Amino acid sequence: MENLFDYIIMAQEYVNQLCEGKPAWEIILRTAVTTIILVWAKSFLFKNESLLERGKKTVFKLARKVPAVKARIEEEIEKVAVSMTQDLNKAIENTPYLTKLPEEGWSPEQIMEEATKYTKFGSYNWESGCASGTVYNGNKTLTDIMTRVYGMSTWTNPLHPDVFPGVRKMEAEVVRMCCTLFNGDARSCGCMTTGGTESIIMACKAYREYAINVRGIKNPEILVPVSAHAAFDKGAQLLMMRIRHVPLDPVTMKVDMVAMRKMINRNTCMLAGSAPQFPHGVIDPIEEIGALGIECNIPVHVDACLGGFLIPFMDDAGFPLSPFDFRVKGVTSISADTHKYGYAPKGSSVIMYREAKWRHHQFFVTPDWQGGIYATATIGGSRSGGIVAACWAALMYHGIQGYVDYTRMVIETTKKIELGCRGIPGIFIYGKPEVSVVALGSKSFNIYALSDRMTKRGWNLNALQFPSSIHIAVTVLHTQPGVAERFITDIKEIAEELLKNPCKDSGGSAALYGMAQSIPDRSLVGEMAWCYLDAIYSTKQLEAPKVK
Ligand SMILES: *Cc1c(COP(=O)(O)O)cnc(C)c1O
Repeated sequence: MENLFDYIIMAQEYVNQLCEGKPAWEIILRTAVTTIILVWAKSFLFKNESLLERGKKTVFKLARKVPAVKARIEEEIEKVAVSMTQDLNKAIENTPYLTKLPEEGWSPEQIMEEATKYTKFGSYNWESGCASGTVYNGNKTLTDIMTRVYGMSTWTNPLHPDVFPGVRKMEAEVVRMCCTLFNGDARSCGCMTTGGTESIIMACKAYREYAINVRGIKNPEILVPVSAHAAFDKGAQLLMMRIRHVPLDPVTMKVDMVAMRKMINRNTCMLAGSAPQFPHGVIDPIEEIGALGIECNIPVHVDACLGGFLIPFMDDAGFPLSPFDFRVKGVTSISADTHKYGYAPKGSSVIMYREAKWRHHQFFVTPDWQGGIYATATIGGSRSGGIVAACWAALMYHGIQGYVDYTRMVIETTKKIELGCRGIPGIFIYGKPEVSVVALGSKSFNIYALSDRMTKRGWNLNALQFPSSIHIAVTVLHTQPGVAERFITDIKEIAEELLKNPCKDSGGSAALYGMAQSIPDRSLVGEMAWCYLDAIYSTKQLEAPKVK
C-alpha cells in the first residue's frame, strides 16, 4: 500500500515538472487535444470490422475512382444485369407483366385460370426429387390438410390474441411441443417466427440486449463458425454488432475449438454452433461449445434450423447422435425450422430459450407510443395466423412416429448417396455427413462444371464456395424409388466425362463462381448480387441483348 502511495506522489511530481513554467491555456489545450486523439484512435481501431478489411475496402474504393476502371466495371455489371433479367424472363416464357391494377376486378374464374398458369411456370420437376432442399415433402394428404386449415384461419392475426384466442393457443402449443422435443424443462420457452433467419436474428438480439443491459458490455460481438448460416451475418449487420468467424478443421469441417477459445474476448456476447451446418451437413461439437460457454459465462446458440425436425428423431430412427439440445448444459437457445423438415408451410420457424430471462431481451416494448403500449415478441407486428395454424396442423399430422419414419427414410437415402459417391473417381466428400446433406468436391476438375452438367440433366444442386464444392440436401422427395440411384449414376457419368476432359466447361455456375471467388474486391461481388435482386423485382420485357 505504502508503495502505491509513493508512486502516486512520484507521478504527481513528474507531471508538475512537465507543466512547470507553462501557461495554463497551453496545459488545458494539450490535455484536450490528447484526449480527443485518444478517443478518435480508439474508435478507429475498434470497429465492427478489422483494420485490414477496412484498409482493403479503401484501396478498392480508390481504384474504382479511376475513370477507365469505373467505366469497365459499369459495363460488366450492366451485362450481368441484362443476362439475369433475361434468364428470369425466359423462365416465364417471356409473357408480359402486369404493371397496373386492372380497372375492374377479375372474376374468380379468371383469377384461378391465371394463377394456375403462373404457378405452372418453370422447367424443374421438383416433385420428382430433382432439387436439393427447396421442397422438403410433397405428401398430398398433408398438403390438403394444411391448405384447409390455412383457409379456416386466413383472416386471423396473432397480434390480436383476444380476437383469435384459438390461434394463440396453437402458437403456444407449437412452441411448447418444440421445447419438449429439445428436452427443455418447465422453464424453457420460445416464440414462433417467420423463418430460420428471423429465429437467428432474435437470438442475436436477445444476447446483445442482455450483454448491454445486464453485463455492461458496450460493443457486443458474436462468435460463429465460418460454416454458420448467413443469417448470423445479417443479424450482426442489422443489430450493428461485430461478427467474427471461427475457422473449421479442414478435414472434419467442424468448428475448430482451439480457435474459438482464442477468439473469445470481453465483448463476446454469444457463441454459436450448428446441428448440422448448411454447407457440409456436419454437426459442430455442441457439447464442447456448451462447456466453453459455461466456462466463459457466455450464452450458446445452437442453430438447428436445418436439422431441427430430423436430429430429435434420429435416435428412434436408428442413427444415434451425441447430445445437441438443452441436455447440453451450456446451450441457452436453439433455432429449429418447422418449414424445413417439420414439413410445415414456408414462413414458420421456432426460437427456443433455456430460460425466460433470455427471451425477455428478445422482446420489443415501447410503453409510450400514441397508438398504445406496444409490445411484440418478434420482428413482425401483424402476422399470419394461417401459417401458425397450418404449422400446428403439420406437427399434429406427423406426431413423433410420423417424423421418425420420415427421418429414417431421409437418413437412409442420404447414406446411400454418400456411399455411392464415395466410390466415384475424381470426387470426394467433405467431412462425415451426419444428417441429410452430402457435400462434394474434386481435386481433378472444376466441381461447378459437374454441377452445371447435373443442371442439364434436370438436377438443381447448391453451389458452395471457400472451398469450391456443391451439395445436395436430401428431402422426402429424394426417398422415392430410383431417385438416389439416378443421382449417383448421373454424378458418376459426369465425373468420368470430366476426368477425361477436365476444362471444357466455361459458362453457367462454373464461370460465375470461379470468377466470384477470385475477385478480391468483395464489394464488386456484392454489386453483382444487387443486380440479381433487382432482376427478381424487374418487370422489364428485355429483348435480345443490346449489340454495340
Ligand atoms: C435454412 C437455414 C437457416 C435459415 O433459414 P431460413 O428459413 O431460410 O431463413 C439457418 N441455418 C441453417 C443451418 C439453415 O439450413
